[in-house]
Amino acid sequence: MSLIVQKFGGTSVANAERINNVANIVTETYSKGNDVVVVVSAQGDTTDELIAKGNEINPNASKRERDMLVSAGEQISIALLAMAIEKLGFPVVSLLGWQAGFQTSSAHTTARIKRVIPNRIRKELDKKCIVIVAGFQGLSRYDDITTLGRGGSDTSAVAIAASMHADLCQIYTDVEGVYTADPRLVKNAKKLKAISYDEMLELATLGAQVLNNRSVEMAKKYNIELEVLSSMVKAPGTIVKEIGKMEKMLISGVAKDADIARISIVGVPDQPGFAFKIFSKLASKNINVDIILQSIGHNGKKDISFTIPKDRAEDAEKLVNEYAEAIGAKETIISTEVAKISIVGAGMESHAGVATKMFEALYDAQINIQMIATSEIKVSVLIDKKDADRAVTAIHDKFFEQ
Ligand code: ASP
Ligand code: MG
Repeated sequence: MSLIVQKFGGTSVANAERINNVANIVTETYSKGNDVVVVVSAQGDTTDELIAKGNEINPNASKRERDMLVSAGEQISIALLAMAIEKLGFPVVSLLGWQAGFQTSSAHTTARIKRVIPNRIRKELDKKCIVIVAGFQGLSRYDDITTLGRGGSDTSAVAIAASMHADLCQIYTDVEGVYTADPRLVKNAKKLKAISYDEMLELATLGAQVLNNRSVEMAKKYNIELEVLSSMVKAPGTIVKEIGKMEKMLISGVAKDADIARISIVGVPDQPGFAFKIFSKLASKNINVDIILQSIGHNGKKDISFTIPKDRAEDAEKLVNEYAEAIGAKETIISTEVAKISIVGAGMESHAGVATKMFEALYDAQINIQMIATSEIKVSVLIDKKDADRAVTAIHDKFFEQ
C-alpha cells in the first residue's frame, strides 16, 4: 500500500463530465489499495472570474478580502469532486486548506507555506476515506485565509506529499507531460520520460507553463518525485526527479518567453558605479532583471541593455528615464517586440559546442541575435519577437531531428 497525492488543475475539473472523470481516476487509484490525498484547483477560469468580480466592486480592496474571495473557487471544486466520488460509492471527505493543516505566512495573495500539519488528513485516511484538499490556500497565524499566488495548487500538492512522506505525487493537467518544445508550436516535439528538478525549474521560468516554479523548488528540496500527466489521455507522463550523470540528456527542451521587454540606456558615462546604481534601483522596486549586456566603453561612454518582465516595463521605463536624465545619458530605448529563446539541458555542463549549435540553427534560419546569456544548464538568446516561433522550430530541428 502506498500513499499517493494526486493534483488536478482547473481544466481537469472544468465541468461535470471532467469532474466525473477525475472521480474515476481517484477511485481507481484507491481501489488498488492506496491511500489517496487529492488536491484540486478552482474550475476552469473561476479564479480569473472571481478576481474580476472583486475589481468590479472595489479595485482597491484589501488583500485579505481578495484572498477571502478567490479561495472560494477551490471550495467549490473540492465539494463537487467529493460529491462525484460519493456517487460512485466510495468514502470521501473534502477539506479546506486550514482544515488540512496548511499554515502560511501572512503575505496575503502571495503567502508562503510554512508547514503542513496533516493530523486531520491522517485521521481521515485511517478511516479509509479518500481526502480531497483545496489547493492554493492556507491560514495565517492571525487565523485569516491566505492564498499562495497564481498556480499555487501545485505547491499545495507537493507540500502535502513532503509533510506526509508520500510515495508519489502526480500532477494531472491538460498536457501529457513535459515536451522538448511546445507541442502546439513544434509538431515533432517529444514527450520526455524524465527531467531533472533543475531543468524543470529553468523550463518553468522560461515560460513552459506546466508546473508552478515554487512547487518544483519544494519538490527538489524534499526530494519528492513528481509525475506530470494528462487527466484526459491515459498514458505515462514525465517524471521530475534527481537525475544521475549517465542519464542526463544533452538538451531537454527549447523554450520561448515572449513576455519580456528590453531596455537600453545609451551613452552612460564609462565610470565605476553606474551599473550598480541602475540595477539596485530596479531591485528596490522588485523588478527582476534577466539578460544584461554592457558594451565596451568608447569616447568615455558605454551602453547598458537588459531585459525585464513585460508587465514591469512601464515601472522600469519611468525609473530608467529619471536615472538616465540625472546622469546625462543620451537616451533610453525600450522595446517589447522581443522574445527570449532558450535551450535547457543538464548534459551541457560536460559538453562543449552546445551554444554554437544553437547559434548555427539561428544563422541557418537567418535570425539575428540581439543578446546572449548562459548558465551551466541553459543558453538564452534575445531575438525579434516576429522570429520567435521560427527560431524555436529551427533550434528544435537542429537538436532533435538527427
Ligand atoms: N486557482 C488558482 C489559480 O488559478 C490556483 C491554481 O490553479 O493552482 O491561480
Ligand atoms: Mg487555475
